[in-house]
Amino acid sequence: MSVSEYETVPMAFRPIISFLYTPLVHPSQHSKSLFSFPNIFSFSRKKKNSKVYIYFKDFHDIPIEFLTTICKYLEPSDLFALSGVCKNLRTLLLDIESPQIQDLWKRSREEFSPFLSLSPPQGMTEQEYYQLNDLERGCQFCGQRKRWVSVEWAFRVRTCEECCVVRFVNKNSIHNRRPAIDKEELRQRDHNEKRRLEFIFNHRKQRLSEIMDELETEILDDNESIKSGYSGRSSQNGGTLKFDSNILRKCPVYSEERKLTYRPFTKRDEARFMQTIDYEYQILVKHYGVASS
Ligand SMILES: [Zn+2]
Repeated sequence: MSVSEYETVPMAFRPIISFLYTPLVHPSQHSKSLFSFPNIFSFSRKKKNSKVYIYFKDFHDIPIEFLTTICKYLEPSDLFALSGVCKNLRTLLLDIESPQIQDLWKRSREEFSPFLSLSPPQGMTEQEYYQLNDLERGCQFCGQRKRWVSVEWAFRVRTCEECCVVRFVNKNSIHNRRPAIDKEELRQRDHNEKRRLEFIFNHRKQRLSEIMDELETEILDDNESIKSGYSGRSSQNGGTLKFDSNILRKCPVYSEERKLTYRPFTKRDEARFMQTIDYEYQILVKHYGVASS
């Protein structure tokens, strides 16, 4: 009996017809049988909850439709992290041909990356687009992160100022040399990139000024020996600043950083933290004159 024939049967007889045509399977498996509706076993069982729970024994049992639904709520950086879990996920998420996957990345980018509101340039996949702009940070030529690194959309590379000067023609002259580039689009991309960098540096600036304030109050409260270990704001005009590790240990931002590592904070971690603070300070001094005011 086909489903269309089944629908011609009067409603009152349907449970009986259904029972006759139902394969003999366990009631829990009933939802899988063709004539599960109207299921005679469902009369005896009260529906407690309208939510449907599906259990998967193994991660690989989850169907692709379910996975993509889960992925809709993830940030692009999380999608990249997830793609590193196993081969299957990598093939799924880093697929550059599937329109569904591209759409997934697009949705994630539009929701979580405010500075990537424009669609990727022609010939570039969503994954490459995000990778170039947001995921990786260093210069693509020298690998440095300490210098001012930004994406040059005219050349589609991420470079520091130094490498850009050495390796490329004058950025402004590209408009004349390559008329195929849409000037308006390029201008918008550059504008977004500028806004993104401003955002990052304002965030750093704020964080650094928090640390400075905490250090300063520590020093005011504490004794002379600590004071002598700190070079102080007044002597920062030269552009170099050395943090004393004794003072840093008292700083709440520093202790929060320690908690974040979820393991004992080694000497090496400490050195790295101080280095980070130091180079953020250097960049701020370079681009804003004074770090905190
Ligand atoms: Zn470089």
